[in-house]
Amino acid sequence: MLKNKVQFQRGMSLSEFLALYGTEAQCVQALVAWRWPQGFVCPECGHTGHCVLRRGLYQCHHCRRQTSMTAGTLFAGTKLPLTTWLLAIYLLTQSKNGVSVMDLSRQLGTCYNSAWLMKHKLMQAMLEREQGRRLQGVIQMDDAYWGGRRRGYKRGRGTRGKTPFVAAVETDPISGKPLTMRMDRVKGFRSGEIGRWARRHLTPGAHVRSDGLWCFGAVKQAGCNHEPLVTSGPKGRQRRKSFVWVDTMLGNVKNAIAGTYHSIRAKHLPRYLAEFAYRFNRRFDLAGMVASLGAAAALTPPMPYRFVTLAEVHW
Ligand SMILES: [Zn+2]
Repeated sequence: MLKNKVQFQRGMSLSEFLALYGTEAQCVQALVAWRWPQGFVCPECGHTGHCVLRRGLYQCHHCRRQTSMTAGTLFAGTKLPLTTWLLAIYLLTQSKNGVSVMDLSRQLGTCYNSAWLMKHKLMQAMLEREQGRRLQGVIQMDDAYWGGRRRGYKRGRGTRGKTPFVAAVETDPISGKPLTMRMDRVKGFRSGEIGRWARRHLTPGAHVRSDGLWCFGAVKQAGCNHEPLVTSGPKGRQRRKSFVWVDTMLGNVKNAIAGTYHSIRAKHLPRYLAEFAYRFNRRFDLAGMVASLGAAAALTPPMPYRFVTLAEVHW
C-alpha cells in the first residue's frame, strides 16, 4: 500500500536536532543569522561596522550603541538559555497535536509559568506569520464554535458561552485535496463580520463553497463567487461531501484541543487555532519548520507578559 507522503515523513529526529542546536553557541549563531541574514545592522543608525563584545552582544562602530541579539525579538529579556527556546520550538513544531504547557515544562525542565509564557510567545509568532495568508482558488468554508457546534435550523441558539470561528480550506481544483487553511475567531456569524473577514483573508475571484448559512453570501463583498449548498434534506448527505476537508480539519483540531489542552480560554483561542494552521500549512516540510519558526521568532517584536496575558488577540 502506498504510504501517505505527509503522514509518514520523518521530520527531524531528536539527535538531528541536537546536532544542529544542541549547544548555546550553535543557537546564538542560528539566531544571529535569522535576525541579520545580511550581517549585523545597527538598529540606531543603520551602520554595519561593529565589534562583538561578548557572545550575542554587538557594538556599533559608528554610534557606539550596544545591541543584544535578543533585543527587539520575541526572545527579548529572557533569562532562559537559547537551547531551551530552540528545544521548545522543536517540540512545538514536530508534534502533530500540539504540546501542553505541562508537558513542555516537564520536557524543558522549566517551571510551569516559564513554559506557559514561552508557548504563548511562540504561538503568537505563528499567529503573526499566518495573519497575512490569503486563500484563493476553490475554498471550502464553514462555521464552527469552540466548545460545541450547532447545525441546522437551531443555528444561533444555544451558543451562549461558546466562541465562534470561521474555518476555511483552500483545495486543489483538480485533485480536490487540501492545500492551505485558516481558522479565525469572529464576533459572530453576521454578514458584516464575514464580509470584513473575506476582504482580509480571501483573494478576489476565489470560489467559495459553504452551506446555506445566510451570512456566507457576504464573501461576494470581497469579489469572490459564492456557491451555497444546502446540506439538510434528502440530498444533504451527498452535498456534505463537498465539505469533507473542512469537516476533517475541524474534527482534527477539536480532537487535538480536547486531548492535549482540555480547556482553552476564549481570549487565547486565536493563538491555538493559528498553531494548528501554521503546522498544517507547513506540513510538507516538517524538518524545515524548526528553522522557519526560529526565524519568525527572531523577526517578531517582544511581547511583555502583560500583553501575552491580557491582550485580546484579534485578526
Ligand atoms: Zn549605530
